[in-house]
Amino acid sequence: MTDPYDVVVIGAGPGGYNAAIRAGQLGLKTAIIEKRETKKLGGTCLNVGCIPSKALLHASQFYEIAEKDFEGLGIATGGLKLNLKQMLKQKDDAVEGLTKGIEFLMKKNKVEVFLGAGEITGPGKVRVKGEKTTELQTKNIVIATGSEVTPLPGVEIDEKQIVSSTGALDLQKVPDHIVVIGGGVIGLELGSVWRRLGAKVTVVEFLDRILPTMDGEVSKQFQRILKKQGVDFKLSSKVTGAKKSKDGVKLSVEPAAGGAAETIDCDAVLVAIGRRPHTEGLGLETAGVKTDKRGFIETDHFKTSTPGVWAIGDCITGPMLAHKAEDDGVACIELIAGKAGHVNYDTVPSVVYTYPEVAAVGKSEEQLKSDGVDYKVGKFPFAANSRAKTNHETDGFVKVLADAKTDRVLGVHIVGVEAGEMIAEAVSVMEFGGASEDIARTCHAHPTRSEAVRQAAMGVEGWTMQA
Ligand SMILES: Cc1cc2nc3c(=O)[nH]c(=O)nc-3n(C[C@H](O)[C@H](O)[C@H](O)COP(=O)(O)OP(=O)(O)OC[C@H]3O[C@@H](n4cnc5c(N)ncnc54)[C@H](O)[C@@H]3O)c2cc1C
Repeated sequence: MTDPYDVVVIGAGPGGYNAAIRAGQLGLKTAIIEKRETKKLGGTCLNVGCIPSKALLHASQFYEIAEKDFEGLGIATGGLKLNLKQMLKQKDDAVEGLTKGIEFLMKKNKVEVFLGAGEITGPGKVRVKGEKTTELQTKNIVIATGSEVTPLPGVEIDEKQIVSSTGALDLQKVPDHIVVIGGGVIGLELGSVWRRLGAKVTVVEFLDRILPTMDGEVSKQFQRILKKQGVDFKLSSKVTGAKKSKDGVKLSVEPAAGGAAETIDCDAVLVAIGRRPHTEGLGLETAGVKTDKRGFIETDHFKTSTPGVWAIGDCITGPMLAHKAEDDGVACIELIAGKAGHVNYDTVPSVVYTYPEVAAVGKSEEQLKSDGVDYKVGKFPFAANSRAKTNHETDGFVKVLADAKTDRVLGVHIVGVEAGEMIAEAVSVMEFGGASEDIARTCHAHPTRSEAVRQAAMGVEGWTMQA
């Protein structure tokens, strides 16, 4: 048995490692436990999520630009060739570098790292089963065990022909035809990677639209852009089964509402229908920690139903995003330390890192309508933005939604190159309770894409100047 800790964090993803850093900064005696087989810290995000997917999106985008746009830009290349092995290696290098960085941050903040599976065995007690078994005592336990891929009955993942996002980050050959089941962020990002590298991509989505949580106009326009890039969509359709052979996979697909089935032949399938909380083997029942019907740990300001046990990140409700997990972690530790930790879930941005990107914060038009909120809209197309035109990157638009009476910004939605960077301005304005006029009267550098955000904000009061 070790000396008692102030905080033991179970799970070293963005929720867990940021909680541990903050605890270290505040002088709390802290340990973190991670059970990943590779013994690497950083969780889903660094190992098999945000980072490797962005590494492949970045590299595959260069490949496509070199293939399709260089000539028009006056750059002649001869014999462009894909070196997939190297592309996968630079992705692995990014993961290696960043996970090592987390080890450094743990040391810097005096956080002890235990490798193995953590299990709550009683009040203030956590057992770590690794190469050896260690019993830890602690005043507070923070569960940060994240999420795992939601399986699809009838379509068993083998990580070779039928892959989850993890397998899709490591295909050793570009498939001729990959079917992506699920038109959400992960499916569209990884589908884009393989399309750029030469695969035919078909997205099968149960609902009648892609990106179901995003603004309807955004999702419609984004689908049109992806279609123009060559992605096929089968909306309102469900996959009911998969038959594998050495030549490929035959997928049975039916209309979501029922009807005649059809077969799609492909050589790879990506199951990307969502993620579910990962709490197996944690000892939640022994500890008396309650979960909801979908398996998420129930919390009130990160406190679970058991005193001294807290939970953060993907294993509790809210957007399953790395930066949300990070904010949960910081706020949770600040509450443990007697400070006023808080997360404003209304200003958590979400980004799809495709080309162009999609980024959003706050409410969509559909949400404002269903909440009965009176709002005004300002819009600006990148086709009228000088930087976007100069760079031949005119797809997309900015939409600003503001309260009709107070002008307070309620939502900002962007489809466009670098939308993920531009959304930060909107997040800051919304955090400060700002108005669309605040954006409209803020000086923006020229020529930048962010001028489109300003022009859209001007549009709320009808004085867009450059379109
Ligand atoms: C392909 C893909 C791309 C993504 N891209 C983005 C993106 O671009 N931006 C973004 O914001 N989000 C992205 N996400 C989502 C993001 O990865 C998650 O929201 C984030 O990792 C959640 O952080 P977390 O700390 O809650 O959990 P996780 O990152 O899942 O970490 C939990 C850790 O806990 C460990 N663990 C579980 N049980 C135990 C136990 N009993 N004992 C010890 N350790 C345990 C797990 O091994 C894991 O390492 C992506 C996800 C995927 C799959």
